[in-house]
Parts: sequence; C-alpha cells; structure tokens
Amino acid sequence: MAGSGTLSAFRLPPLPTIREIIKLFRLQAAKQLSQNFLLDLRLTDKIVKKAGNLTDAYVYEVGPGPGGITRSILNANVAELLVVEKDSRFIPGLQMLSDAAPGKLRIVHGDVLTFKVERAFPESLKRQWEDDPPNVHIIGNLPFNVSTPLIVKWLENVSCRDGPFIYGRTQMMLTFQKEVAERLTANTGSKQRSRLSIMAQYLCNVQHIFTIPGQAFVPKPEVDVGVVHFTPLVQPRIEQPFKLVEKVVQNAFQFRRKYCYRGLGMLFPEVERVESTGKLLELADVDPTLRPTQLSVSHFKSLCDVYRKMCDEDPLLFAYNFREELKQNKSKNQEKEDDKEKHRL
Ligand code: SAM
Repeated sequence: MAGSGTLSAFRLPPLPTIREIIKLFRLQAAKQLSQNFLLDLRLTDKIVKKAGNLTDAYVYEVGPGPGGITRSILNANVAELLVVEKDSRFIPGLQMLSDAAPGKLRIVHGDVLTFKVERAFPESLKRQWEDDPPNVHIIGNLPFNVSTPLIVKWLENVSCRDGPFIYGRTQMMLTFQKEVAERLTANTGSKQRSRLSIMAQYLCNVQHIFTIPGQAFVPKPEVDVGVVHFTPLVQPRIEQPFKLVEKVVQNAFQFRRKYCYRGLGMLFPEVERVESTGKLLELADVDPTLRPTQLSVSHFKSLCDVYRKMCDEDPLLFAYNFREELKQNKSKNQEKEDDKEKHRL
C-alpha cells in the first residue's frame, strides 16, 4: 500500500542484460511497430529518477518492450508496477522480471489505447483534485505514432478527471519525437507554438525534462527524443469543455501564418463569418492581427469563454463545420454546372 513505508530498499537480483534478453527471446525490433529500445540502464534510471520520488508508488508503464525502463522503475522501490504491452513477444522476458521481483510486477498483454487503468489500482490511492498528486505515476517510451494520440486522449481525461486521473492529478513522464516535445512546451510567440502547446498547457504544468539523442536507441530512430513531464493543474487555465477548447484552438491554428481572425472565422458559417468573427475578437479583447502562434493561453481562455456564450445563444453553432459547408457548396455548384450543361445539349 502507498504510504505503508518500506523497511529496506528493493533491488533486482543480477539478471541478463537487456541486450542478452533481446537475443535470448529473439526480440528484433519490428520496424512497422516503430520499436526503438533503450538498452542503457543509466539512461532509463535517469528517466525514472526525473519522474519524481516513486517510493511506495503505483506505477503504470506503457509499452515496456524488453524492459529497460521497467527495471529502473522496479529498482525505485515502488509498491506495484503495472505494465501494458501489445507485442506478445515481450511477455516471456517481462515474466522473467516479474519472477525476480515477486509481487511487484503485473503484466498485461493489451493495448494502452483501450486499457482501463482506472480500475487497476486500489481505491484507497484516490486523492481530491485539489490535494497533492496521488502516489500514482505513468511512465512510458511509446512509438511516436501512439504517444501523440495517447496524450491527446489523456489530456481529455485530465479535463474530465476520469481515466488515469480518477486517482487525482496523476503525473506522467512520456517520450515524444523531439519536435513534438518542443511543441508541447512551446511558449507564446515561439516557432514551435501549436495546437498541442495550448491543449497541454491549459490543463497541465508541462516540462521538457531532457533530450535523448537518437543514437541511444536500438535501432536508432531518425530523430532525437524528448522526455516530457506533465502534472495536471489544480485549476485549468481555461474552464470550458475539452471539445470546445479543442475546436477553438484547432480553428485558430488552421492558417498558422495568417492573422488569427482568418482561422477563427472558420468557427462561423460563411453568411455571418465577418460579423461574428469581429464580435468574438472584440468581446474577447484579442487583436485580430496577432498570428495564432502569438496567442497566449489567456487569449484562448477569453476566446473560448466568448465562443461558449455565442454557442449558448445559437444552439446550432457548435456543430458547424466549415469543411462540410465547403463540400456542400461545391456539390451545389457542380449541380448548377450539370444543369447548364443539360440545357446546352
Ligand atoms: N519501453 C521500451 C524501451 O524503452 O526500450 C520499449 C520502447 S518501444 C519505442 C515501444 C514499445 O511499446 C514496444 O514494446 C511496443 O511493442 C509497445 N507498444 C506499441 N504500441 C503499443 C500499444 N498500443 N499498447 C501497448 N504497447 C504498445
């Protein structure tokens, strides 16, 4: 149990190296699954150390693979480590680790995109949202094509306080393609500022902790890797539903090099676009000639608050999608053209 105190520190007994495990179980990285392994345990120790004090913690590791980070977590004196791995080839190697750490490692052969961690740990770990974060941590080095959709899903869970955040403000330490790590943490006005920067920063304290050079992985990925730490905020910087914030942010960044009114205008049907965009920007007190990258989280807060009011006044507004309107206009124009053609014949 978290907080029960541990008399002596746990250390894994001597084990074959990760390289030997890979050989022993024939765990060649599957390119199509973007598998890149960390074999250097000093590096995996560093990732785990930077995740915070894990004594007596309940840790959820996503994508353990051959188990480098898994070993470092087990050596951090945790109460329990739950790992979810999709590729069955890794299960026997993980089982070996489980035998070496009796009662500490729980292995699930499954998919992190659907696994329900909210049912996995004891109820007693739950903290009030306003309290210090619970002794529950998420750690993972996932393929890039999984980590980005997963963080978007988890950010929505933060906003709803469900999923892994049923325990409170669960902290996460995750790896991303360096460029994505930079986007997640980019400040107002920086070149990397993007949709992800706002979505992450309005809900969490986000820190790019360090960068791992590509050559530290086997096989070496094409890019360097950023290790990012997230702590959900007690008070989100924007207090509107996730989907509404997502819609405003997505539209604002539609044309990232243009003035922000261009993208924000796409929130409104063509017939009222100019007028409604003007109203939105005026009531939110946002300069229409700022570029999307120059908008701060507090600019987005005002925009979301005003857009929310406009949606409350016009119940059809939130469902409006400019792409659908474009499509409809195109097909109407096509019909007109077809009619003209018929009359010519
Ligand atoms: N954590 C290991 C390390 O650092 O050496 C492996 C990293 S490798 C980049 C990603 C791991 O995540 C692989 O073991 C892969 O099979 C696993 N994985 C990929 N997609 C997954 C998913 N949807 N659910 C669970 N595991 C997944």
